Amino acid sequence: MTLRVGIIGAGPSGMAQLRAFESARKLGAEIPEIMCFEKQPDWGGQWNYTWRTGLDEFGEPVHSSMYRHLWSNGPKECLEFADYTFDEHFGQPISSFPPRAVLFDYIQARVAKSDLRRYVRFNTAARWVDYNEQMQEFTLTVEDLATQTTETHVFDKIVVATGHFSTPNVPAFEGIETFPGPVRHAHDFRGAENLAGQDLLLIGSSYSAEDIGMQAHKMGAKSITFSYRTAPMGFGWPESVEERPLVSRFDGRTAHFADGTSKDFDAVILCTGYKHKYPFLPDTLSLKSRNVLYPGNLYKGVVWQGNTSLFYLGAQDQYYTFNMFDVQAWFARDVMLGRTALPSFEAREADVRDWLQRFAALSTHDDEADFQTAYLKDLMSHTDYPAFDLDAVAVLFKQWMKDKEEDILGYRDRIHRSVMTGTMAVNHHTRWLNAMDDSLERYLHGPSEDVDTGTLAMLTEGERQVSGR
Ligand code: FAD
Ligand code: NAP
Repeated sequence: MTLRVGIIGAGPSGMAQLRAFESARKLGAEIPEIMCFEKQPDWGGQWNYTWRTGLDEFGEPVHSSMYRHLWSNGPKECLEFADYTFDEHFGQPISSFPPRAVLFDYIQARVAKSDLRRYVRFNTAARWVDYNEQMQEFTLTVEDLATQTTETHVFDKIVVATGHFSTPNVPAFEGIETFPGPVRHAHDFRGAENLAGQDLLLIGSSYSAEDIGMQAHKMGAKSITFSYRTAPMGFGWPESVEERPLVSRFDGRTAHFADGTSKDFDAVILCTGYKHKYPFLPDTLSLKSRNVLYPGNLYKGVVWQGNTSLFYLGAQDQYYTFNMFDVQAWFARDVMLGRTALPSFEAREADVRDWLQRFAALSTHDDEADFQTAYLKDLMSHTDYPAFDLDAVAVLFKQWMKDKEEDILGYRDRIHRSVMTGTMAVNHHTRWLNAMDDSLERYLHGPSEDVDTGTLAMLTEGERQVSGR
């Protein structure tokens, strides 16, 4: 009987799984019956921007946490697909830190070209998964959100690709309930335009805090205060930006901090991260983890230890993104197709333990980048995913982190070389700090009234025409 595979989620990870099967099909392999269920009307996951917050048009929790003016926070050269390069997609070099819409265009073109949309049931949410030990098969109940009808489908393998930056972690702080201004989580942040002239408090000290803080600065916030629990970020911030220890309590619009200081604020954004949440899975199949580089119970970061017919993609914290999801999907595909044999439970446990020990020994961000590079090297050695120079990507990550230390507002203006094609990125026509239009059209078709003439003057004619296809 033909293998039946159910994929839950059509974000970059679910799309990678579709692509992995397609690449095997092109090489002549018999591929399974595949169904992919996506609760949103389109694919792309986080990259599929919505203005909505809270609940969507069907009353489902809004998935994407992305916002207007979100530009890639890592160099695109670190996430490039090995089998679909930026050169192939755009036809000419682009800058290293494109805005969301440009990366959305890139990821969806790869799968659209192979007509992989035919596998995806949109507006369809996974509701519940049951595993029948005797039959060794899953029953997946899904709901068509438009018609509010449920169906069940039976699969031999299930791939969970629902992401883990969507369910906000919302801690409480004494007195926050009477803070008179807006209080929201980063998940509900959609743009910083209305923060102009305001004193903003951001709780958290990771990527969301850093980027939303810099968005607010870009849009003219009067002051930005980051409040950290464990350690400050320590970048060279602009003058109106500072870091303080954790808020101990609010008193009206005044926040009191652990170091005894206080300050008045107009708005608060909780940049306190996200929870792994899989409401469609029984606890025996559900990953429980914080946002870490190596969650437990997943062999090679992908195969559920308690049931090797269940796979998770993109479940770890991410230095690497799109190309890591690819390698994971290629690995999952080969396990499903029986091309890659799994070792015994004990051997898998020992492998997971080994990685967890290595993870526990990390102390710097450079170590973390090296760790995920080593993870990917190991995984890639088990697949036929097109090889690329992972050590060169690790060097890029370290350079990027150094660039951020040097210039937190300017690191996105730097350019890097593709490890896939050797192509050097070009300067964008407008510096990130001055770029007020994050559309694909403006990005590709050149400068406008919001152009930074200082940057323009530095560019060659060729670099100015960062145009499309
Ligand atoms: P997601 O993108 O989250 O996709 C999961 C999909 O599953 C969604 O389409 C969702 O609708 C669907 N789904 C969820 N539940 C169900 C269900 N029950 N039934 C059916 N479908 C369901 N990465 C970078 O490389 N560069 C960046 O600049 C960057 N910026 C980011 C900014 C923010 C604010 C966030 C939150 C993340 C950012 N990331 C960035 C990381 C990002 O998470 C990954 O790039 C990528 O989107 C992860 O892909 P995924 O498919 O694993 O998950
Ligand atoms: P994160 O990296 O998991 O960080 C969570 C932060 O919340 C940490 O600083 C943590 O502090 C803090 N925190 C958690 N609970 C807290 C509490 N009770 N009190 C105080 N602080 C608390 O989550 P994230 O920053 O939201 O990033 C998620 C993903 O989004 C990342 O992959 C990132 O790359 C992506 N992102 C990208 C962009 C972009 O520019 N493209 C922008 C935003 C986000 P501790 O250190 O003390 O644990």
